[in-house]
Amino acid sequence: MTCPICGKPTEPSYRPFCSRRCADVDLARWLGDGYRIPGAEPATDPALPPRDESAD
Ligand SMILES: [Zn+2]
Repeated sequence: MTCPICGKPTEPSYRPFCSRRCADVDLARWLGDGYRIPGAEPATDPALPPRDESAD
């Protein structure tokens, strides 16, 4: 199985993604449904800020 975001091999800690960043990208897509421009969906989002789990 590969990461649905970037296609890299998945990490058990982040399944089905390869990293927290890709998990966040997927989450952002869900939360941003109808917010982003259709057809302009990037494979990766380098502008996505890192999230600090301890800040919550
Ligand atoms: Zn990935």
